[in-house]
Amino acid sequence: MRIANVQRRACFVVPEGFVDINVASEGRFSSEVREVVADMASLRAWYDTLGLLDPDDDELAALETDERLGCVVDGPRQVFAIGLNYRAHAAEMGLANPTLPMVFTKFPSCLAGQHAEVPVVSATTDWEAELVVVIGTGGRDVPLNSALDVVAGFAVGQDVSERTLQMSGSPAQFSLGKSWKNFGPIGPWITTLEHLTDVHDLGITCAINGTTHQDSRTSDMVFSVAEVVSYLSSVVELFPGDVIFTGSPFGVGQGLHPQQFLQPGDEIVTSIESLGTLRNYAVAPGGRAGEI
Ligand code: ZN
Repeated sequence: MRIANVQRRACFVVPEGFVDINVASEGRFSSEVREVVADMASLRAWYDTLGLLDPDDDELAALETDERLGCVVDGPRQVFAIGLNYRAHAAEMGLANPTLPMVFTKFPSCLAGQHAEVPVVSATTDWEAELVVVIGTGGRDVPLNSALDVVAGFAVGQDVSERTLQMSGSPAQFSLGKSWKNFGPIGPWITTLEHLTDVHDLGITCAINGTTHQDSRTSDMVFSVAEVVSYLSSVVELFPGDVIFTGSPFGVGQGLHPQQFLQPGDEIVTSIESLGTLRNYAVAPGGRAGEI
């Protein structure tokens, strides 16, 4: 089952396009993704009665170019991000692997979708390909062995990061430097677990203008998806539609020799095996953001 957010309406992804969940269910299910994912069991049971076909890979590749696709969830109540969660990435940043998940937020106003334009707000604006978790039922104190049960599905994300602000101050604070407009695109849609061979061993890549800089697997994560979900829920309540950026693998611009950062006009292509491809475009910033 794949759930897309098409012009702010929750839709199933089918070979011919998108099926509006609220319309097809005659109002039984909401039009908002955030509400639809709150009861994945009921949604699944109904979905199974519809006899819809799953798109094949070619059909998915064609559908993910649809200009109407927005951020996979509108208005999540909480946005979590995990820093330094891939072993080889921590090493390239010159930092040790964390002993606890390193948690920050991307403020929700930075979220965007497929084809969003990312403003290059400084000379150190960087890319970070990330697996994004969308919470389903959520809750508190979720046990590790059932953590994936409270997840609605997964998507492809970019944790765009302005390194100068991210690293300024002592101690550094990450959240603002990662929260400019469109710094958090998530797409193309939510894919449920049964389409994945193993969420903890998916290929993940990021290419800038066709040159692949990140090419890793989620098996390099320090803390697994299940560990991150369980850990977060031991402190906060996870709500339906909350999103978690689970960290970026090796190969960000800051880690290159010489370093390389986004330039206006760059095409940012982020792909995760079985989840699809997210395409975004770096643009010159407007307004005061360009002055830092
Ligand atoms: Zn990140």
